[in-house]
Amino acid sequence: MNYTSTRSDKKVRETYALLNGLAADGGLYVPASFPRRSITYKDIAGKSYQEIAAIVLSKFFTDFTEAELKDMINAAYNTKNFSTDDIAPLHSLLERVSILELFHGRTQAFKDLALSLFPYLLTAAKEKEGETKEVLILTATSGDTGKAALEGFKDVPGTHIQVFYPTDGVSPMQQEQMQKQTGDNVNVTAIRGNFDDAQQFLKRLFVNEEVNQAVADKGVMFSSANSINIGRLAPQVVYYVAAYEELVGQGAIHEDEAFNIVVPTGNFGNILAAYYAKMMGVPIGHLICASNRNNVLTEFFETGTYNCKRPFFTTLSPSMDIVESSNFERFLYYVCGENPVRIKAEMEGLKKSGKLSVTAEELSRIQREFTGAYVNDEETKAVIEQVYNSYGYVMDPHTAVAMGAYMKLLAKRPELGACHTVIAATAHPFKFPSALCEALDIREGGTPYESLEHISAVTGVAFPKQLAALQDTPIRFNRTIDKEEMRKEILAFVDAFTK
Ligand SMILES: *Cc1c(COP(=O)(O)O)cnc(C)c1O
Repeated sequence: MNYTSTRSDKKVRETYALLNGLAADGGLYVPASFPRRSITYKDIAGKSYQEIAAIVLSKFFTDFTEAELKDMINAAYNTKNFSTDDIAPLHSLLERVSILELFHGRTQAFKDLALSLFPYLLTAAKEKEGETKEVLILTATSGDTGKAALEGFKDVPGTHIQVFYPTDGVSPMQQEQMQKQTGDNVNVTAIRGNFDDAQQFLKRLFVNEEVNQAVADKGVMFSSANSINIGRLAPQVVYYVAAYEELVGQGAIHEDEAFNIVVPTGNFGNILAAYYAKMMGVPIGHLICASNRNNVLTEFFETGTYNCKRPFFTTLSPSMDIVESSNFERFLYYVCGENPVRIKAEMEGLKKSGKLSVTAEELSRIQREFTGAYVNDEETKAVIEQVYNSYGYVMDPHTAVAMGAYMKLLAKRPELGACHTVIAATAHPFKFPSALCEALDIREGGTPYESLEHISAVTGVAFPKQLAALQDTPIRFNRTIDKEEMRKEILAFVDAFTK
């Protein structure tokens, strides 16, 4: 199948799009012909997560045989990588509200759903493209992506991965997860500075010809694992389709009855995947885009103007602390009728002025399907407490933002409550011990592990085995460098693995 950029109508092979991630014109790859209404309930009824994954992915990737896709899916979605057979179980919280638990993978974040499969897609694409160089994945992370990418790529033949994380900005638990990473093809380095510094540096490095040539001479090419790659987006569509199958199976909805989805949003990847599921035929009614105090998207869905000129806040839900949502460009592409000329102009305008607006007619069309709402940190903690006290269910701060946004909206628009609603739960609560202790009034321990012991004792939630095992794992990566040294760090890593 062919893909095209959101900013031009030049077509590329799907394997080229997978291998390169971002189009040369700066746009994002989208299917040249979207598989609209390609899935019905009959296609998926009674099927397992893996079987549904095979159906959904075959609509996006036609250059792989059925057997090739199945092999990749079985290698990614199994009980070695996930703590439950269901992969993404649907927990019924209230009669009309279910929680889609996306945190049962190796790093307890929803990123695992895509990053367990992505390394296989990437290496298979590389082979089909006839590319013989080794791939070095470069990632700057503010939290969950780095760890999920490390686990996804560790010991995958033909690949290496370098992760940079800022010294301030990741939670103690997230830092432990990365410093103690295992695998022979990984390197993790802390950067003095913030996430944007590291990210900006890598963006420049990707297009630096001199550096690219220097590593090419050693048989190495750079690639990235961030959420703009179509190989990360497509696997995320699967769990929304699987949730639909499950809702009908549980008797929560009829097969042609609409349900709503609430997604705690940062880069707009996860909610875009839900929109893709809708375009493919899943009867999704309203898509609710939940934000924290960084509420640029809430404002957009209210006013039709995306305004990046705003202060940046650090919050209890750090994976949503984003002002420029990269996957938003794909959404706009569909809003304006798949018009690359318009998108190119809009994105250039956004870069210049920090603002972008859709027409009143487009906004009213958007508002028929999308609604935004945001909650602040105090409200987030109150939701964690309220949901625990009322239903005995422990939510992480990101999921609590989604739940809080839904509750706020429901108060304003009670008609939304007529449909069943699915809340995407994007992280295991135990990744955020101090927020939980504060919200649930549980005594904090001297270490994150002690806090988690307290939380486990009070709430009865079991310690995920990977987090528990971390406690006795030695630290392996504790180097901290200045951002000016990033290039040297990468080249030294290349030297080490090409020796
Ligand atoms: C990455 C992340 C998000 C945001 O997802 P996007 O696809 O970037 O919108 C939300 N919650 C958690 C826990 C995350 O790790």
